[in-house]
Amino acid sequence: MRDWLSHRAVVSPDTTALTASTTGASETYAALDAAVEDLAARLTALGVTNGTLGIVLHSRPAAVRVVHAAMRVGAVVIPFGPDGTESEFTEQLKHADPDCLICEQATERLVTAVDPSVPVRSVDSGGQVRALTGEPRAPVDTPEWQFDDPLVMLFTSGTTGHPKLVVLTVGNVCMSAVASADRLGVLPTDRWCSPLGIHHMGGLAPIYRAVIDGTTLLLASTDPKPLLDALTEYEATGVSLVPVVLDRLLDAGTLPDSLRSVLLGGAPASEALIERCDDRGIPVYPTYGMTEAASQIATARPSEATATPGTVGRPLFLTTVTVVDSSGTPVSAGERGEIIVSGPTVTPGYYEDPQATAAAFCEFGFRTGDIGYLDADNRLWIEGRADDRIVTGGETVDPTEIVEVVCEHPAITDAAVVGVPDEEWGERIGVLLERSDAVEKQAIDAHCRSRLSSHKRPRIVAFGSIPRTASGTIDREAVRERLTASTT
Ligand code: ATP
Ligand code: MG
Repeated sequence: MRDWLSHRAVVSPDTTALTASTTGASETYAALDAAVEDLAARLTALGVTNGTLGIVLHSRPAAVRVVHAAMRVGAVVIPFGPDGTESEFTEQLKHADPDCLICEQATERLVTAVDPSVPVRSVDSGGQVRALTGEPRAPVDTPEWQFDDPLVMLFTSGTTGHPKLVVLTVGNVCMSAVASADRLGVLPTDRWCSPLGIHHMGGLAPIYRAVIDGTTLLLASTDPKPLLDALTEYEATGVSLVPVVLDRLLDAGTLPDSLRSVLLGGAPASEALIERCDDRGIPVYPTYGMTEAASQIATARPSEATATPGTVGRPLFLTTVTVVDSSGTPVSAGERGEIIVSGPTVTPGYYEDPQATAAAFCEFGFRTGDIGYLDADNRLWIEGRADDRIVTGGETVDPTEIVEVVCEHPAITDAAVVGVPDEEWGERIGVLLERSDAVEKQAIDAHCRSRLSSHKRPRIVAFGSIPRTASGTIDREAVRERLTASTT
């Protein structure tokens, strides 16, 4: 096959490919194809063919064009977080070592300073690839793509330490779109809104899904009010969100009736959030996914989400989930263990890291490092990361159980539970609490005493807002630091 946009431009030339909610500008697949052909000719003149193209771009039309142009010239895209710090960017750039970088004017100086040997071109914030239009053009030699060819490389969120660079193939991304369409349903009139950053698969996948499905991609900001306005004005039929953003969106107003699917992933969705959606009739699809599986692994339909709140539903079409015990043996339904995933969306491995790649796979597939179980109906329930479990005085404690117990207290709205290093106990259980009403530590302790056995009781309690990463997962290291500071 050739790049997906060139096929799409032949099949659906007059369909709207892209709408930018900030400017209201739209373009058809035929127009997008012409812009991408021009860009591809300029990238070819720069020597960007069948190598790697790093992009440091926000989710704007220019980024969508660059992603398609990379596929047209045969280059593998490596998206970097456009709002990352200099040290994060330096570490990532060293590892990925792209042949060329495209960034925004605002970051050009930083990007150039990090590694002056990499050619850098910038685009303007208005969504045009302006600086590149000054480049000469060369005839584009459109390559053939095979399913096993690497298409993109993405850094994981880095929740558990150093970020890893995940290779995703043409087949991984294509089959992810197919399986997602199977679970969510697709109509030719669909308009999918993506407010997420394209350096995470949750934000990049909608670009590929739109061109594969022949639907419209609506770009919007994550700020609740403009996002709500964009969903309403452009009658979006679907949107990808992380739980924190959905919560804020619900505070901002009423979601439009045009919405058929609210894909919710990246971090656990609380039962309270699912209930809020149920009360308002919002079609929410709680999802479990990860970079290494090209985004979605399991997705619950709205009826399942509200009937059995907390589940992430059944694995997607062609994806298999196996739960194994600590010896790597599959367990029966209802028993918890590590979640292993296999199927056509699973990465072949980490870029130039055979050791990490070998460690990530077992007999049954990719080891997610997440703990959970499959129920008798093959629905998946996520309980947290294996690394998050706390070992205190030789006993292993699952933080999710403690989160549930403390959140039963009427004054507590959210909790983060971590192990805080301790000489005597190895780790002590620490809890950072968000409260809606005045409540004392003693009251929390009394609440826990009656519900948790002694070794599971939190020994360090602090109140404050829970630090989170951009994708909405709890930043456990920051919580740990906060709790350690509260004891000194
Ligand atoms: P790193 O691998 O570098 O630590 P990361 O795992 O946070 O980073 P991502 O690939 O963006 O990077 O996130 C995938 C992880 O997010 C999953 O492995 C899981 O731990 C968590 N996650 C995703 N969806 C859910 C969900 N619905 N419920 C609970 N956890 C989820
Ligand atoms: Mg991970």
